[in-house]
Amino acid sequence: MKSYRLVPMTHTPRADGTAALLAELNAEQAEAARTTQGPLLVIAGAGTGKTRTLIYRTAVLVDQGIAPERILLLTFTRRAAEEMRQRAGLLLDTRCDRVSGGTFHATCAGLLRRFGGAVGLDPAFTIMDRADAEEVVGYVRAELNLGDRSRRFPKKKALLDILSKAVNRDVAVADTVAEEYPHFLEYVGDIERVAGAYREQKRRRQLVDYDDLLTLTVQLLERHPHERERVGALFSHIMVDEYQDTNRLQARLVRLLANGHDNVMAVGDDAQSIYRFRGACFRNIMDFPREFPGTRLVKLTRNYRSTPEVLHLANRVIAGARERYEKDLTSTCGPGDVPALICAPTENMQSRFVCQRILELHEAGVPLHEVAVLFRSAYHTFDLEVELARHHLPFTKRGGLKFMETAHVKDVVAYLRVLGNPHDAISWGRVLRLHAGIGEVTAQKIFGHLEDRADPWAALLAMPAPWTERLRPLGEVLAPLARSQKPPADMAAAVIEYYTPQLKAQFDDYPKRIKDLDQVVAVAERYAALEPFLTDLALEPPEASVAGTEAEGRDDHLILSTIHSAKGLEWQAVFVIWAVDGRFPSAYAEGSDEELDEERRLMYVALTRAKRHLTITYPINVYDRATGMVLSKPSRFVAGLPAEVLEPWALADDAGPARAGGTAGRAAGADDEWGEYFNQDGGW
Ligand code: ATP
Ligand code: MG
Repeated sequence: MKSYRLVPMTHTPRADGTAALLAELNAEQAEAARTTQGPLLVIAGAGTGKTRTLIYRTAVLVDQGIAPERILLLTFTRRAAEEMRQRAGLLLDTRCDRVSGGTFHATCAGLLRRFGGAVGLDPAFTIMDRADAEEVVGYVRAELNLGDRSRRFPKKKALLDILSKAVNRDVAVADTVAEEYPHFLEYVGDIERVAGAYREQKRRRQLVDYDDLLTLTVQLLERHPHERERVGALFSHIMVDEYQDTNRLQARLVRLLANGHDNVMAVGDDAQSIYRFRGACFRNIMDFPREFPGTRLVKLTRNYRSTPEVLHLANRVIAGARERYEKDLTSTCGPGDVPALICAPTENMQSRFVCQRILELHEAGVPLHEVAVLFRSAYHTFDLEVELARHHLPFTKRGGLKFMETAHVKDVVAYLRVLGNPHDAISWGRVLRLHAGIGEVTAQKIFGHLEDRADPWAALLAMPAPWTERLRPLGEVLAPLARSQKPPADMAAAVIEYYTPQLKAQFDDYPKRIKDLDQVVAVAERYAALEPFLTDLALEPPEASVAGTEAEGRDDHLILSTIHSAKGLEWQAVFVIWAVDGRFPSAYAEGSDEELDEERRLMYVALTRAKRHLTITYPINVYDRATGMVLSKPSRFVAGLPAEVLEPWALADDAGPARAGGTAGRAAGADDEWGEYFNQDGGW
């Protein structure tokens, strides 16, 4: 079910235009929003109004007569770009709806569909997600006979990791292996062969993986002056939010897109760089002025989001980072409560406490949509989800939900993809294998019959024996769809109707899965054509399967989110759960200082999402199978802080308040709002 929001139908144009917009910013923000020519870099801490400045600057540009389509907003999620457009629209008028924007990957996909001919791409190319890409690598590995079990040759997942790292860090495959996978050094020649064969497979089948979207666009712009000129003419102003999380390729891309005008504004915060594992480099942001000589640097220091108490804690946590650029935040908000660190004897008590506390906050007037529970990994919330349901607390979960990775959604998408690109061998394989009696080998043979035909649909309807009869129903559904100009929702509905018996044969819980498929149709309804629909599904799939969205149809619901998906957002009340050492930071991160620093920045991002109420919780007595240890200490990032920065509390079953450890801190009295959860001696 869709939810709706009221927006004003008419916008009164602002008589004094730009001046009125700028009056709503502080001096530094206004300077950035007013500077509409040349390169501009804003490096500033969390909540200082970087995103706000981008939104106002967008409105200023449109107000000054720049064609909205020629403004490009590059953001980390599509949702972020949409929200910025909307907010700019509310400041100015509906022209802002036409501002271009999206993620790097989506923007590249759009450019490649229009101009990709120069790098050998057909406009109907298929975008592969990670699982598809692994499948192709696995296929190539087997083709090259490198799958011999007696050797320790890397598996498809590790191979793709190596290839992807090489691309994202912009270094050779051999160097990546030498630096990061020295245990595979003896196979470097074969790994390079895999890389070559993988490239060739993708080219032949018109398949593009996530990395290719960036590399091919860079290639297009670097090697093809004619296209560079045409693409360059599309945008007159480029703005990038969260620049600290770009990798080298993305930085190169920004450089190329801005060719000829250098009207680029980047904003970011090195302390919030949390995508190192994808090749992001927080030093990237420091290199910006070198890429764009004459860069004007603006610093924002006042935080408008959080209470001094929240910032005090965040500043303390980030101060422990080995490497960072000094910039403490000062608050413009009134004082609030000292954040709390809660020790829970079990995971379930942690969950119950969070629910109770949310109910209390709600009672006290905090709407549910102003509450977020943040965690490092998506699996951390299963117990909490059950408790929330028990307390009738509606929630939406963001990040880490694998809607697109569920088998049934992948099946339906495979059908749609062959409709979009009949050369897509991976999707054909999946579709054909759904039919009784067709396995891997047969599927390949059948595809062999189709792949080089001018009209694969005609071929499908006239397959030789013994497949003639068995594949006719498939052909009768797909061929007319492929030849039609039907909207994607109709195509999806037709495919789902054909697929439903296959779904029922495969899964006992099919009723739930059918609901997910309804969701596919619902999403498809927003698109007029198949291609953009498939592109978005591959790049930014819907966040939740229906099964996971307890809040469906309810207006006010709280957010459960991975910290990565909470970037740039803010809530009145934030809970950071599972802050137990060994989980956060993960025991795996202990190997390297860089990884530990990245985890620390992740904690910093989590803490700085809170406006007023910040609660960190950790369960104890957690057995960690990987290390064989029992985890019982709070995250090292927040452990041992003085109680005036972070108040430690222990949870107990019975009534009566108590503090755990420390001496200073708030006095726990009978009227203490948390009284019922704490006991005097922390006696667990
Ligand atoms: P993050 O680093 O988390 O992405 P940010 O620097 O992008 O944060 P914003 O999200 O733009 O910060 O702003 C944080 C909050 O402060 C928002 O609620 C925003 O509206 C408010 N804010 C920023 N600047 C001002 C201002 N000049 N006057 C009033 N409110 C402001
Ligand atoms: Mg922001």
